[in-house]
Amino acid sequence: MPTTEKGGSRALLRALRAVMARQGDGQARLDKVVNLVASNMVAEVCSIYLKRDDRTLELCATEGLNPESVHSARLRVGQGLVGRIAQSAEPFATDDAQNAPGFRYLPETGEEIYRSFVGVPVQRLGEIMGVLVVQNRTPRRYTEDEVEALEVVAMVIAEMTEAGAFLVSDGLAGAGRRSGPLMIEGSAVCDGVAEGVVHLHEPRLVVFDPIADDVETERRRLAEAMAAMREDIDRMIAAERLGPANEHRDIFEAYRMFARDKGWMRRLDEAVESGLAAEVAVERVQSVVRTRMERATDPYLRDRLHDLDDLANRLLRYLTSGDGVEELPEGAVLVARSIGPAELLDHAGRIRAVVLEEGSHGSHAAIVARAINIPMIIGAERITRDANPADTIVVDGEQGRVHLRPEPSVHTAFREKISLEKQNRAVYRQLARLPATTTDGATVKLRMNAGILADLPSLEVSGAEGVGLFRTELQFMIRGSLPGREIQAALYDRVLTAARGREVVFRTLDIGSDKILPYIKRADEPNPALGWRAMRVALDRPLLFRMQVQALIRAAKGRPLSLMFPMITEAWEYDAACDSVRAEIDRLADRGVPRPENLRLGLMLETPSLVFAPDRLFENADFVSVGGNDLMQFFFAADRENDRVRRRYDLLNETALRMLSEIVRRCSATGTPLSYCGEAAGRPLEALALAAIGFRELSMRPASIGPVKRALRAVDLSEAFGVIEHAFADGHSSARTALRAWRESVKTAG
Ligand code: PEP
Ligand code: MG
Repeated sequence: MPTTEKGGSRALLRALRAVMARQGDGQARLDKVVNLVASNMVAEVCSIYLKRDDRTLELCATEGLNPESVHSARLRVGQGLVGRIAQSAEPFATDDAQNAPGFRYLPETGEEIYRSFVGVPVQRLGEIMGVLVVQNRTPRRYTEDEVEALEVVAMVIAEMTEAGAFLVSDGLAGAGRRSGPLMIEGSAVCDGVAEGVVHLHEPRLVVFDPIADDVETERRRLAEAMAAMREDIDRMIAAERLGPANEHRDIFEAYRMFARDKGWMRRLDEAVESGLAAEVAVERVQSVVRTRMERATDPYLRDRLHDLDDLANRLLRYLTSGDGVEELPEGAVLVARSIGPAELLDHAGRIRAVVLEEGSHGSHAAIVARAINIPMIIGAERITRDANPADTIVVDGEQGRVHLRPEPSVHTAFREKISLEKQNRAVYRQLARLPATTTDGATVKLRMNAGILADLPSLEVSGAEGVGLFRTELQFMIRGSLPGREIQAALYDRVLTAARGREVVFRTLDIGSDKILPYIKRADEPNPALGWRAMRVALDRPLLFRMQVQALIRAAKGRPLSLMFPMITEAWEYDAACDSVRAEIDRLADRGVPRPENLRLGLMLETPSLVFAPDRLFENADFVSVGGNDLMQFFFAADRENDRVRRRYDLLNETALRMLSEIVRRCSATGTPLSYCGEAAGRPLEALALAAIGFRELSMRPASIGPVKRALRAVDLSEAFGVIEHAFADGHSSARTALRAWRESVKTAG
């Protein structure tokens, strides 16, 4: 049959192109396409089903089935062979359709007489748009080459659909999908409000001519774009700005590796060879990657697939604009399925917010968004499909919502909110040099949480009194490979220097659970949050821990050094960690490395068991820092990553505050310095409550320091304590409502 040969497939593609060029309405084009495919495949039937909405497929054109059923025969995604193809995004062929599992015929089409069936998804960049089907009356085994040829045709149909070639009167096949206001619910990982214009990180190309004029030309275009891209990646790696502790370097190394991946290039070549334009060939390969990505549960594999997807995006930019540069409009809000940390860092200062379809609270992109302090929403389903470039967009990082093309009234309301935030920021800047002293004379030390180089500028502008939590694992997480001792030491040195004598508390590696190193195989655990993580890993496999401690000691160069250990659950774990650090100091001292001038070794209290630890532990610890994010997840048995339960229990509940008060009591009994470094410390109401029950040091995102300081400076803490106790005495389970009302009354009175 003709399509088994590449030349035959190209002839079909050329005929399809003639259909596109023709004047006439979309239906006439669709009819012509099915007619062409049927005759080319020597089949009695060829049909195109397109999605009417998310769940319904509609027969839009057919050669061979009952013409009356066009636009009336419908089936659900998942239903029958066609529906299953749309659901699985996989082709399916059989020479005995009636007995194939899931077969269900549509009587109005008269298809029951056809024994053989082959269907392929019509998809574009992972989005299923429909299904292309060929049927024969007699039993026939469709060859792999035939299925492959049909997939190429389906790819062209997808491109044509996207370009609007099949628009029919009732607006099927893409028309009107992307207009009018739309609100999308997601989850906020970095708060704040922003408005701007949509910038699609993954270029949505509308390829008006998906079929190659001449295969040689396309092959050359692809080779040139690939060469330009590789050269640029090499240049970026070599560039001076990528010092040894640079956060981008390893990411680009990973790109370099993929850009030379033979399998990836071969698949691109094959797609061009089949007669597709170079851009469509890239998209075809990218579609396969995305389908795999959607199914991959292994985080390592997903990260790799993301990198490949990013690389394909870069390649598309080289093909379309020649230089691979992502041009950002003024006031850009970046909209993407996902984005890597290096790319997000590259955009710092040029984007107002980020909205992603995927992502998690602990993802690399979330870490970077917090560091560069822009609102970020994750889990915004379908946004890359529903948004158009340059659409107006409002990102509400407080509610976790995105307003696309908002009504003018909604837009105005958010503009007012944004301008209020701007005024507040001016006030916070003025407060930066003042202490967080309450009206009854209590001073609370406010420090910042950090973890990557992009955080350092905040040390000056936020007014933080040092770093209360430096999450060292973030450096490990955003790289493509394990950073060696030298790289680590260079980073810690920069952090200490930037702190200019203010204390920096380095938390030793806290990996496991949601903190995944892409290059280290993860232990397969039924419940990672309760599993082998943090200090448990460090004590069982001390090599990585020792290497890090050595880097920290070297970086200190005799300066004071503060370390704390994550998720200590029993006293002996803290003792063992301290012994190990002291042994490293002795070992290095023998080699002439200066001992830190003032060594402080603290522990993170993140498991309820530690609240009841023996006095000895509190006496021995140089300080205790409450990791409230983990502590609350264990206390309430509510996964911090699970949106269904993460906000269900309140830190201001009587149970939680009683436990936290007990920690305050135990630390003050032993004179152990105490701080709180979970996210709650950065929320004014929670910060007031923590201070009211006795916390005198809080560590938080730099952007929270201003609001928390303002809140503290306005209140009398003993009054706040009274409000909390009253609320509980009155039978309220949470002090939130009472505390909020009281705070409002204080504000109004002031
Ligand atoms: C915490 O658990 O509160 C904490 C500060 O550590 P992390 O959020 O990094 O687990
Ligand atoms: Mg923690």
